[in-house]
Parts: sequence; C-alpha cells; structure tokens
Amino acid sequence: MPEKTLFEKICDREIPATIVHEDDRCICFKDISPQAPIHYLVIPRKPIPRVAEASADDEAVLGHLLLIASKVARDEGFAENGFRLVINNGRDGGEAVPHLHVHLLAGRPLEWPPG
Ligand code: C5P
Repeated sequence: MPEKTLFEKICDREIPATIVHEDDRCICFKDISPQAPIHYLVIPRKPIPRVAEASADDEAVLGHLLLIASKVARDEGFAENGFRLVINNGRDGGEAVPHLHVHLLAGRPLEWPPG
C-alpha cells in the first residue's frame, strides 16, 4: 500500500480538520491557513494526485467537487456575494499537497489576476 497522503489522513479522521461537508465521494473542510475570510478545500476521497492525472473514470467525481463547492457556498449563505474556485496543478501552478483539491474562497472582494 502506498503511504496515505495528508488529505487521505484527513478523510480517514487520522488528522483533525474542521469538516463542513462530507459524503461518500468527497469532503469539504476549512483550510488551515486561510487566504480569505472563507477558505475551504473540497477534496475527493479517492486519492487523485492532481487534475492532470484524473482519468475519464473520474469525470463524475470531478463534477461532484464543483457541485458540492457551490452547494456549500449556497448553504452557508455566501454564494450571493460571490466566491472563487481554484485548482493548483503541479509546480508552477502552486500545488503543495499531491491530492486533488478545489480551493473555495470567499468573504472579501478577490483580486484578479492571481500572482
Ligand atoms: O493548492 P495547494 O496544494 O498549494 O494547497 C494546499 C492547501 O492545503 C493550502 O492552502 C494549505 O493551507 C492547506 N492545508 C490544510 N491543512 C493541512 C495542510 C495543508 O488545510 N494540514
């Protein structure tokens, strides 16, 4: 068995996190180092390293991550003011944790373009 990623350990409750949503395919939890007043991560339970390594079999779960991010934003009442979803992929994309995750950022006007 390959060693679990940090985020697999969060899925398995081996590392603590503040979980705001979970279901059979994904979890959404508060980022430990928030870059906005609201900063959550939505991750698949399946350890897909990064979006570039997702396969056709992952199509449904990739869509599910976006739908859940949007649902959390609506349920928590910040969808109306707007939010941003970000996926960092690989070295130049700023990826630090090799387990696919969608950043959900909100709670202030966000600048564009990113650095
Ligand atoms: O996209 P990237 O890989 O850079 O993002 C990783 C994110 O995981 C960071 O925003 C970091 O704060 C977060 N993180 C976390 N809990 C940990 C380790 C990292 O929320 N235990």
